[in-house]
Amino acid sequence: MEYGENEKGKRCLECGDDITYGRKGRKFCCDRCKNTWHNRKTRGTRLAKARVMTMLNRNYSILNGILEAGETSAGVEQLNRMGFNFGYCTSYHKIRRHDEYVCFDIKFTLIGSEVVSIRKLPLVSLKDFGNTL
Ligand SMILES: [Zn+2]
Repeated sequence: MEYGENEKGKRCLECGDDITYGRKGRKFCCDRCKNTWHNRKTRGTRLAKARVMTMLNRNYSILNGILEAGETSAGVEQLNRMGFNFGYCTSYHKIRRHDEYVCFDIKFTLIGSEVVSIRKLPLVSLKDFGNTL
C-alpha cells in the first residue's frame, strides 16, 4: 500500500484523518470526532422532538392554568386563542360521540366545541404494571 492510500474504513468519518490505532473497523480517530458526527446526524431528530415537547408543554401549562383557576371546562375557541393545539397531546381516544385527550397527567373530554371534565389523573405507581416492566 502506498502513502496516501487507505484500507476501507481507515479514515475518520468526521475529520478524514488516518485512523492509526484501535480495533479493526474503527470509524473515528477519537471520541470527539465520534461525538461530533453522531450529534450532527441526530440533530434533526432532536430538533423535531424539542418542537413537539414545546407544543406539549404549552398545552399542558394552558390546561394546568385552567385547573389552577378552579375551572374544569373551556371553549375550543378560547383554548385556541390561548395557543392550545389539539394536535399535541400524549394520548387520544374516540369514545362513542366524544373525544378523550390526555396531555401528560391531565385528561379532558371534547364534546362539540367544548372541552369539559378537565382533570388530573392519579399518579400510577410502577408496581401497578406488575411484571410487564
Ligand atoms: Zn477524526
